[in-house]
Amino acid sequence: MVRIEAVGMCHTDIAVRDGEMPSPLPAVLGHEGAGRVVAAGAAVTDVAVGDPVVLTYLSCGQCRECVGGAPASCAQLGGLCFGGGRPDGSHALCGHGGEMLHDRFFGQSSFAAYAVANRRNIVKVRSDAPLRLLGPLGCGIMTGAGAVWNALDVKPGSSVAVFGAGAVGLSGVMAARVAGATTIIAVDIVPSRLALALEMGATHVIDGGKEDVVAAIRAIVAEGTDFALDTTGREAVVRNAMLALRQRGVAALVAAAQPELRLDMFNLLAGCKTICGVIEGGGAAHLLIPRILDLYMAGRFPFDRMVRFYAPDQINEALRDSISGDAVKPVIRFDDDVLEAALRAGAP
Ligand SMILES: [Zn+2]
Ligand SMILES: [Zn+2]
Repeated sequence: MVRIEAVGMCHTDIAVRDGEMPSPLPAVLGHEGAGRVVAAGAAVTDVAVGDPVVLTYLSCGQCRECVGGAPASCAQLGGLCFGGGRPDGSHALCGHGGEMLHDRFFGQSSFAAYAVANRRNIVKVRSDAPLRLLGPLGCGIMTGAGAVWNALDVKPGSSVAVFGAGAVGLSGVMAARVAGATTIIAVDIVPSRLALALEMGATHVIDGGKEDVVAAIRAIVAEGTDFALDTTGREAVVRNAMLALRQRGVAALVAAAQPELRLDMFNLLAGCKTICGVIEGGGAAHLLIPRILDLYMAGRFPFDRMVRFYAPDQINEALRDSISGDAVKPVIRFDDDVLEAALRAGAP
């Protein structure tokens, strides 16, 4: 059991609330929790009460992907993260009147002051880091960074185009800079996000609402980019990402806004291009999260600049600001001061 200090809001929470991603409702959502362990089961021997932890996706630990060190690709991930309860149908929480609520969202349901997680989706973090900032490491930030490092394997001196400069895309920009990419192009339609992308390591930005994106990328890198990261999941954007890749370029897709895409097959074949789907950055959260955190503490991965804090009773404002693009990464604080003030103000 973890006393949640703060929890990030991710577009997956919004998609589930809106019925765009299947997961049973009503439910307690939230899957970017960070806090301190307050109780642990007898079988948990390597995490102690008081330890600072980041919660992440739950995986089975037994399938070939888990055993092979890539739990982000776990064959059971869907059921374990979106099933609405434990695999046996039981729940870790209920409503005030004892009524059943779906939970175990990503094995945590951390839009709450307390969350019950599994040892497999708890990542112990260094104690000198600011815990209230760290929740988004467990999904959004890791998704962008891991796609760049694990799936694309971006090399020093290479070119990368990042489509969508939200929390995932900006994390991809920072990861590309850390990996030594020398041309990093961010594409978005929100000017404030493009400005932030330049501060976080993009060498060029393109306003997709105003410019011909493929022509603008080819004007920067005539032969096309070595790598593309799409964080939008939209057909028109993915098409552009593929068309702007060089021969044998590789694109990583990390979001699905539409169930199907139509791509230019001739361009794909003649260009010998590769497309890969990546969940949660690929690889293992237990390796990725401490790595990103060490870079942050060294001043080389300034993800704190994306964060805007909200109190628990401002959760709908956080959601609204996330959809409008006004807040890049909303984080809901559940620490004692904020919680007491909200309760005094009459929050349920
Ligand atoms: Zn997420
Ligand atoms: Zn598995």
